[in-house]
Amino acid sequence: MSSLHDAARRLARLDAGEVLQEEPLARHCSWRIGGPADILVQPSSCDQAARVLRFAREEGLPLVVIGRGTNLLFADEGFRGVIMKLGRRFSDFEIDGLTVRARAGLWVPRLVRNLAAAGLSGLEHAAGIPGSVGGLVTMNGGSLRRCVGDRIVDVLAVGYSGEMRVFSREECGFSYRRSVFQDSAGFCGDRWVILEARLVLERGRRSEVRAEAVGIMEERRKKFPLRLPNCGSVFTNDPAVYELAGPPGKVVEDTGLKGLTVGGAQVSHHHANFIVNRGGATARDVLSLIGEVRRRVHARIGAWLACEVRYVAPDGTVAPASEACGEL
Ligand SMILES: Cc1cc2nc3c(=O)[nH]c(=O)nc-3n(C[C@H](O)[C@H](O)[C@H](O)COP(=O)(O)OP(=O)(O)OC[C@H]3O[C@@H](n4cnc5c(N)ncnc54)[C@H](O)[C@@H]3O)c2cc1C
Repeated sequence: MSSLHDAARRLARLDAGEVLQEEPLARHCSWRIGGPADILVQPSSCDQAARVLRFAREEGLPLVVIGRGTNLLFADEGFRGVIMKLGRRFSDFEIDGLTVRARAGLWVPRLVRNLAAAGLSGLEHAAGIPGSVGGLVTMNGGSLRRCVGDRIVDVLAVGYSGEMRVFSREECGFSYRRSVFQDSAGFCGDRWVILEARLVLERGRRSEVRAEAVGIMEERRKKFPLRLPNCGSVFTNDPAVYELAGPPGKVVEDTGLKGLTVGGAQVSHHHANFIVNRGGATARDVLSLIGEVRRRVHARIGAWLACEVRYVAPDGTVAPASEACGEL
C-alpha cells in the first residue's frame, strides 16, 4: 500500500495531470461497474500524457488508456496499475476548411454538433455515440454501416517511451470496428495512445447536416434502452453470422433470450444486443450472462457471437469480453 502511495506521489510531482488513488472504476464507465484502480490520472496536454507513459514504463506498472468508458467492462477487483483517462480535460478541437483536428478526449456528440454548425458533413452517423474521439477511432466506431475511419486523414499518437508518431489512415489498419490501436491497448509492450485525430469532411448545408444528425439521434432514442446503464451493442455484427441468422440483436432475440438475467445484469427487453445494469450488477454477472447468451446462440445456430465490448482484467489485459467469459 505504501509503495502505491509513493508511486502516486511521484507521479503527482511530475505534473502529469490530476492523480487519484484507489479510484472506483464504476465512476468511469457507462455500465457503472468496476472496482478501484490503484492510480487514475487525467492529463490535459500531450506532454503530460507522454510523461504518464514514461512514468508507467520506468516504474514497471501496467497502464490502460480509456476515454469515456462506454465500451469497457472493468473487473470487480479493479485494476492494479495506472489508468490514464483522456476525457474532458483533453478535448480541444480546431476546424480549418474541410478538416478538423480533434483531441482524443473530445466528446463525440460535441464534435458532431460543431461540425453541423460549421456546415461540414460526413460524421452525422456518429451523432449520439457517447464516447470520446480516441475511443471512437480505436474502435473504428460509427453507425448505419459507416465507420469513423472513412474520414480519418491521420492520427497523432504517443508511444510507451513518450515518442510521438503520426499514423496515416492506411497505417491505422481500419476495418469493421477494428484498428491497430486495439492491439496495443492495455499491456506492457509496443503501445500507442491516440492524442489527436485529423478528419476530412465535405461541405454541406448547415440546416441539412443538422437535420440529418438530429434524425439519427431520434432513431437511436427509439431503438436503444437509454434509461438503464449499458455499454451499447455487446456483440459485433459478424458478416458470417449475419449471413446465417441476421444481426446480433435479432439472433439473440430469436434465441428467446430477451430478459435473460444473471444477478443485476439483464439482456434488454428493448434491444437484445444490449445488456443493462438493473442495479448492483457486477462484472462477473455480465461475463456470466454473455457466456450464457453465447452458449445458447451457438447451440441454436452453430456459430459463436464475438463481443465488441472490451473487458479490462485486473492485470491490465484488455480484450473482447467474449474471450474472458469462458474462464468463469
Ligand atoms: C448507449 C450507447 C450507444 C452506443 N452506440 C454505438 C454506436 O452506434 N456505434 C459504435 O461504434 N459504438 C457505440 N457505442 C460504443 C461506444 O460508445 C463507442 O465504441 C465509443 O467510440 C467508445 O469511446 P470511449 O471513449 O467510451 O472508449 P472507451 O470505452 O473508454 O475505450 C474503448 C477502447 O479504446 C481504447 N482507447 C480509448 N481511448 C484511447 C486512446 N486515446 N488511445 C488509444 N486507445 C484508446 C481503450 O483502451 C479501449 O480498448 C455505444 C455505447 C453506448 C453506451
